Amino acid sequence: MLRCFLFSLVVVTLSATMAAAQTPAELADIWEAEHITNILPSNVRHKDLKEYLDKLKGSGVRVAEVGKSVSNKEIYQVEFGTGPLKVFLWSQMHGDEPTATSALVDLFWVLRRNGDKEWVKKIESSLTIRAVPMLNPDGADMFIRRNMQGLDINRDALNLKSPEARLLKQLRDAWSPNIGFNLHNQNALTAAGPTNKQAAISFLVVYGDAQRTTNEGHERNKRLVSAMIKAIEPYMPGHIGRYEDEFTATAFGDNFSAWGTPTILIETGALHGKPESFLVKMNFIAIGTALKSLADGSERNIAPDAYLGLPNNVSGRLMSFIFRGATIPIVKVSETGEKSIEFSVGDIGANRERRREEFAAPTVVRRIGDLSTISGLEEYDARDFYAVGRFQPLSVGNFGEILFYKKDRKIDWAAADLEEAFPPDAIFSLGQWIKGEGVVPRK
Ligand SMILES: [Zn+2]
Repeated sequence: MLRCFLFSLVVVTLSATMAAAQTPAELADIWEAEHITNILPSNVRHKDLKEYLDKLKGSGVRVAEVGKSVSNKEIYQVEFGTGPLKVFLWSQMHGDEPTATSALVDLFWVLRRNGDKEWVKKIESSLTIRAVPMLNPDGADMFIRRNMQGLDINRDALNLKSPEARLLKQLRDAWSPNIGFNLHNQNALTAAGPTNKQAAISFLVVYGDAQRTTNEGHERNKRLVSAMIKAIEPYMPGHIGRYEDEFTATAFGDNFSAWGTPTILIETGALHGKPESFLVKMNFIAIGTALKSLADGSERNIAPDAYLGLPNNVSGRLMSFIFRGATIPIVKVSETGEKSIEFSVGDIGANRERRREEFAAPTVVRRIGDLSTISGLEEYDARDFYAVGRFQPLSVGNFGEILFYKKDRKIDWAAADLEEAFPPDAIFSLGQWIKGEGVVPRK
């Protein structure tokens, strides 16, 4: 009797270990070896998604057209698994927030292709996963947040004025999933807490009401997010934040939770020096870990601490570029037409505008002055330099196209074509040094 008990204990332990064997590092390796998304997410159009989905369909993944956008573009739902626990994910309801769409495509591909692996079998038999990648194809094709009607779909959960919002609600109501994943991108200059670290990924376990009523699903989601944090933190220590926790009565995450589908919000930011594909991989590992923990039940043994301990996101602390202590000549013209030069000394802060990766992104001067409480992703020591605007005066709101002159030079700042008449020592253009790289020292 005892032997029999011991034997079954060993078997249970073994199968639990096997199911739990899919570590974050193994998920990373699988993504590296097998991912099919070969276009950087911000360059992906609806037609590219259709090609990805054709590949999924060809491999046997269930892909169905479930609706149409305002301009009649197909919206698809992808499905995997036959288990009782219903998991629903949707991405890119904001058209210019694309990272998770690629991660979802890769995830379904990998699940389908690895059906012989224990961890995938467990997912397949425990979960039914449905995902809508790119809920807003019109916005995605224009690389804008809103839909073709100019509506923010994520503020349309109650009014349901957009076909995309109506579809999303209908898909939820018809199926009543047990858990939702709402997948977005956030500003690249969001900091993880009061630090100079970008929040490359942010999480929020979304409440269903302003009173922050918790329930079983909400508590489970805190554990799941903790599992996801532990999975990706080693790849980007200190770069995970908690999204601001304010109930938005008209948003989908909040209403999914209210309607009975406790929802997790994942916001992908950016990590300076890493390509977008790195963040696809992080999404893949995070969501893959959540599915695995749900399927094998290991989430029940995870403490919610990693989620509870996340630093809140902070905005306004980071800028793309800061040039410290530059001297800015300003040409003044009096009423009688006399020119005089004034000099001001300060830090110049410029941010890169968001564009698809395939387009050069302009930088715009956003602050000039004492920026000692702000960090730049790239910082330069401009104390030995004059800085002037290349095409426009150097001031807030103008392009961050900047000419740098060593301060021992004699320059006629009022010269008609300054760049031609007095070739600068360094030129910063479209976020790069196009002349004199290294002349202005990096801090
Ligand atoms: Zn968004």
